[in-house]
Amino acid sequence: MERQGERLLVAQNGVYLEIVRPWVRLVRKLGGYDHKTSIPYGDMAEETALHCGRLPVELIRQFADMAMAAYPKETGAWIVWNAATHLFRLVPVTIREHSESHLRYDRPCLSTDDVLLVDCHSHGPSPAYFSPTDDEDDRYDVKFAFVLGNCVSPVPSMALRLCAKGIFEPVEPVPSDWYRAVRRKELS
Ligand SMILES: [Zn+2]
Repeated sequence: MERQGERLLVAQNGVYLEIVRPWVRLVRKLGGYDHKTSIPYGDMAEETALHCGRLPVELIRQFADMAMAAYPKETGAWIVWNAATHLFRLVPVTIREHSESHLRYDRPCLSTDDVLLVDCHSHGPSPAYFSPTDDEDDRYDVKFAFVLGNCVSPVPSMALRLCAKGIFEPVEPVPSDWYRAVRRKELS
């Protein structure tokens, strides 16, 4: 697929979803067939191609600073990638309501070439994990979702997953330099 968007692919070995964004191309299998009907197409395979390069770990450190400043309340930010300049930056969300256990926010307004890459939120004193509310919030986007938990601990907890239109794929382990970035902050 040449343009941004999504399409369903019917293949001999199942139905696939293809997603194209400036920063990524994904092909994922949605399901197989109940019957051995002849499908007049070839086989597909799952694919992942990341075009944006490696995320600067400094942005994870900046988000950890935000999470500590908001502690014990939750906070959120987007890591945005600009498809024209290939630069990354952290954009705080506009918080409507937040407590130790929930966060309601407005999505940042992005300029034309900006795309959401990592949707970050913190869990205050609780561990990092994806709650049923997070699952519901993450169903529609194509992005990474990142949770920082135990935000003032010497070693905060982290959870990271790829979200692709309701497909959730844990990224485990979370990159070790992300832990180092946050830990260094704690010790300094
Ligand atoms: Zn959460």
